[in-house]
Amino acid sequence: MKKIGLIGGMSWESTAIYYQRLNTLARERLGGLHSADLLLWSFDFAEIEQYQSSGDWDGVTRQMIHAAQSLEKGGAKALLICTNTMHKMASTVQSEVGIPLIHIADATAPAIKQVNCESPLLLATRYTMEQDFYKGYLEAQHGINVVIPNAADRTIVHDIIYEELCRGVVSQESRDRYLEIIGKSDADGVIFGCTEVGLLLSQGDIPQPVFDTTELHSIAAIDFALT
Ligand code: GLU
Repeated sequence: MKKIGLIGGMSWESTAIYYQRLNTLARERLGGLHSADLLLWSFDFAEIEQYQSSGDWDGVTRQMIHAAQSLEKGGAKALLICTNTMHKMASTVQSEVGIPLIHIADATAPAIKQVNCESPLLLATRYTMEQDFYKGYLEAQHGINVVIPNAADRTIVHDIIYEELCRGVVSQESRDRYLEIIGKSDADGVIFGCTEVGLLLSQGDIPQPVFDTTELHSIAAIDFALT
C-alpha cells in the first residue's frame, strides 16, 4: 500500500471525514486490521482563512508548497489537498513536487459522467463557485458544464460554510436553506464542491444525483494507494 500525504485542516471538520473514510475503505478492501498508510499536514484554518479573505493567494500558495514538499520528504507517494477551494493552486503545488497530486475534480468527474449528468449545480465556497480554477477545470479537462447559484444564494452557501460547517455547527435551518437553493435550480445533479457540505446534506435529502467530493476524492486516493 502506498503512503498518501494529506494537506488538511481546511477545515479539520472535513479532514476528520477524510481520515475516517480512507481508513474504512482500506479496511474494506484489504480486510483484517488493515488501515490506510497516511501522513497528515493539518493547518490552523484561522491562518489559512486570513490569507483567503485578504486575497493573499501567493502567501497561501507558499504555505501549501511547504506542506506538500514536507509530505513528500516524509515518504508520501501521492498528495491529496483535502479541500476544493485550495485546488486554486493545485497546478503550482504539483509543479513543486515529484509525486502526483490527486486532483479532487479528476476524482469527481467520472461519477458525474457515469450517470450522464449534464449540468450539475456546484455548492461551494465563493472562491470555488465564482473563480475559474474549478468550473473551468471541469469544463476544460472533462467537458462538464457546471451551474452555480445566483449571487444572493452564493453568499448564503459561502457564509454557511465559513460561519457554521467549518466550526462544526450543523443546523436544520441551514440544511433547509441549501435545499431551497437546490430546489430552485433545474440542474440534473448536485456537486458537494466543498468538503464540509456532506456534514449538512446527503443523497437521501436530494432527488438529483449527488457528487460528494470528499467521498469521491477518498475513493480515488485508496484506488491509487492499492494499485
Ligand atoms: N473545505 C472547503 C472546500 O472544500 C472550504 C474551506 C477552504 O477554504 O478550504 O472548499
